[in-house]
Amino acid sequence: MKYLDIVITLLLSLLLTLGVGYENKIIIVAGCLFLALIFLSAKRWFKWVFIFPIGLVAVLYFQSGYIYGHPNIGIIASLFETDKRESIEFLLAIPIKIWILNMILLVTFIYYLIRVEFIFKWSKTAFLFGCVCFYFSSLSLFISHCYASTEHYIIQINALKESIHQTANWTILKAKPKYKIYVLIIGESMRKDYMSSYGYPLNTTPFLATTPGIFVNGYLSTASHTAVSLPRTLGISHGLDLHPVDNIVTLANAAKMKTIWLSNQGFIGKYDTAVSAIAVHASEKEFLKKGNFLTNNTSDYALLPLFKQALTQPYNGSKLIVLHIMGSHENFCDRIKKDIYRLKDKDLSCYLSTYNQTDTIIKKVVNDLKATQDSYSLIYFSDHGLNNVSTIKGKTQLLHGDLYKQNYEVPLIEIASDMHQHVTLNKHISAFNFMSIFSNWIGVKTIQLPSLNVYQLPKNNNIQVLSGNKMVLFRSLKNDPDEIIKHEGGNYKYQPF
Ligand SMILES: [Zn+2]
Repeated sequence: MKYLDIVITLLLSLLLTLGVGYENKIIIVAGCLFLALIFLSAKRWFKWVFIFPIGLVAVLYFQSGYIYGHPNIGIIASLFETDKRESIEFLLAIPIKIWILNMILLVTFIYYLIRVEFIFKWSKTAFLFGCVCFYFSSLSLFISHCYASTEHYIIQINALKESIHQTANWTILKAKPKYKIYVLIIGESMRKDYMSSYGYPLNTTPFLATTPGIFVNGYLSTASHTAVSLPRTLGISHGLDLHPVDNIVTLANAAKMKTIWLSNQGFIGKYDTAVSAIAVHASEKEFLKKGNFLTNNTSDYALLPLFKQALTQPYNGSKLIVLHIMGSHENFCDRIKKDIYRLKDKDLSCYLSTYNQTDTIIKKVVNDLKATQDSYSLIYFSDHGLNNVSTIKGKTQLLHGDLYKQNYEVPLIEIASDMHQHVTLNKHISAFNFMSIFSNWIGVKTIQLPSLNVYQLPKNNNIQVLSGNKMVLFRSLKNDPDEIIKHEGGNYKYQPF
């Protein structure tokens, strides 16, 4: 039976390593784990006090780890801030293969805990050797990544929670909004390279492709997950640090604007997610997805009547209306009314259909703005991109990730009542500068923040993004392997900017 025990322990080590997201160094870290599990198997107390709880967390993490990789602040934030509906969508979208592997892992883990026992003559030496191997194993890496990510996340969420009760102390030098109505649409998971307005051959964004406006080609999100990216975009931040009370809403309030926040993104119970901690400062806010339990899969279109209402509210000064949409959030087919492209590649087809939907929503918002006959300006950007993890050609699988340029390359677009040309600006601009852009946009000068538009921002070839738990140079990231997209119209070469 010893032979069977060895095989099962080996299988367990491989599955545990895959499930905590270290397949890139699987031979070393799974090998160390295998040796550790064998040499520590006779120590019952060690098994139950250490291996059982750590292994159990790893078994529960398996699906996230297999799909998204080892823990980082983005994954941890998403796990904490996902509502039940999103969790169910996530679980339903998991391929059957991963469920089966997860079950095999659970069975081998239980078998190991109960049955596997190798007794060594030199038990102390074996125990010591086992501990050293464990230190270099995938489970040990998993614990340290879990710890660091959770620590970063707790610092972030505490800063955000504290900010809810703080008042910002902006020192306003000048506040002269140029337009009567400002609309900020915060998109979700939209890469710029799949937008026809940035050159994609399928006309995924017909309105944006032709409408007058400024299209920044080279805008980079701060991070790769909503809960990490947006507090660093919509508030002052230089990297891991956050100053959430110094955010777009408190700045607009300080400039005596009326602030209205309309969101189709979920929030859990109170204002305790990264973005709702910013939204809470708005003079009016409406969340379509309410409650602690199964929330509705509301379409972004449901925001439009609320937007119309917000437009008609009488107000003497300028208004800021923020629309936070679900946009292209996984799972794409759940976001849309119908798959309009009907490509063989279902995932891609639904993903591109979400682009078309967002394009239509922006178009409708602009039409409503035009109808008011007031001056207006609209900014649209996406919180982060996605990357393709599929290795099968013609079967795209776009997911959150932080290792590729495309996880950060997103659109930044401004449309305004006095813009008459479609202008593309090729320039790398970091979303860490969004507060400066925003302040310039609403015509506000403060002592806390430079007020610069996209043209005035200095050129920077060393833009950093938050990847995993640290800041890295954007240019050091790889390109998404599927950067060249085949299409009936010929090969589309992605323009790197
Ligand atoms: Zn997001």
